[in-house]
Amino acid sequence: ITVATIREQSEGERRVALTPETCRKLAAKGVTVLLESGAGRVAGFEDAEYGDARIEADRATVLAQADVLLCVQAPVPADLQSLKPGSVVIGALAPHRNGNLSPIYGERRLSAFALEKLPRTTRAQAMDILSSQAGMAGYKAVLIAAQRAPRFFPMLTTAAGTIRPSKVLVIGAGVAGLQAIATAKRLGAQVEGFDVRPETREQIESLGGRFLDLGVSAAGEGGYARPLTDDERALQQQRLAEHLKGVDVIVATAAVPGRPAPKIITTAMVAGMRRGSVIVDLAAESGGNCELTLPGEDVERDGVTVVGPLNLASMGALHASEMYARNLFNFLGLMLADGGALRIPFDDELVAGTCIAHEGAESAPGA
Ligand code: NAD
Repeated sequence: ITVATIREQSEGERRVALTPETCRKLAAKGVTVLLESGAGRVAGFEDAEYGDARIEADRATVLAQADVLLCVQAPVPADLQSLKPGSVVIGALAPHRNGNLSPIYGERRLSAFALEKLPRTTRAQAMDILSSQAGMAGYKAVLIAAQRAPRFFPMLTTAAGTIRPSKVLVIGAGVAGLQAIATAKRLGAQVEGFDVRPETREQIESLGGRFLDLGVSAAGEGGYARPLTDDERALQQQRLAEHLKGVDVIVATAAVPGRPAPKIITTAMVAGMRRGSVIVDLAAESGGNCELTLPGEDVERDGVTVVGPLNLASMGALHASEMYARNLFNFLGLMLADGGALRIPFDDELVAGTCIAHEGAESAPGA
């Protein structure tokens, strides 16, 4: 088969779904790799590094020959239109955000696999794009906070006196939150974290953070959190409001699958924070953990800066792409038979769980 990758079209997207490394690995499996010229450039990979690929300048020509298209974000309609009929699209297709499947999938009999829907089993870890990209996001979020803050993160003892370390609170200790805790710790801040899943206490502490116990425990299904009840939310907010008066930086990462982000930091809480405090809200894309967050913007209120960054993984495009491309390579491996032929095992839960279109029809056969 031919596996293809094109330049990403979404604004601000710097990542690429295929790297020289995964290109080499695919070629070794007997796959023909076809790349739109310049597809990896903004991520840091020149065409010449893709020695095992055929490079083609014309995008439509690439698409017309693709049996499988690897992408970061969902292809735009014009690109779907150019795809070879019956081909397979794999990537972060955001089915929850993009609503109904484009009718083009039906017209072109396309199959599509949205990797955000990957069941989070042990076997799936090497294909888990949410985890690999969340790690970069958590890391960058802390660097943004450090950049905006008018304070040092570490404690300093100098001839000009002693500087006390910044207090960083990380809300939500999933994959992004734990990386944020580790990063803030390395920068020398005093770090605390909280989450509603009780098992996160040990994880936060193992990174040298302090677990902030707000007295709310809400573990849900599949290792995720469940939404809080009204009483639980009231308790969490009351305790948090008091605590935030002594916090310099908040990195907010709380999320509940398939729902808008929980609103945890109210406008009143922000008003109670010290001037010069910084909130970086990783949940900006899904509505924000803070009432003041605006996606893609900075908001100043009562001397506090609320940053709502979008697509943080793209800020670290080189390493984010390397990890993302390996995730895709591993997932595609489920479908590659000897000699580089395509055989899609729909009885595999990882394949069935991510399939949003099968030869033009929505979702997997039998689903
Ligand atoms: P996520 O992005 O859905 O949520 C981020 C965090 O926000 C979660 O830890 C969640 O508990 C927390 N949260 C939700 N509501 C909250 C609230 N009101 N207050 C405070 N915190 C709140 O989660 P994620 O980072 O994608 O992963 C979460 C879990 O899934 C973790 O346990 C992780 O280890 C597990 N996981 C397993 C695998 C695997 O085995 N393949 C892969 C990735 C993640």
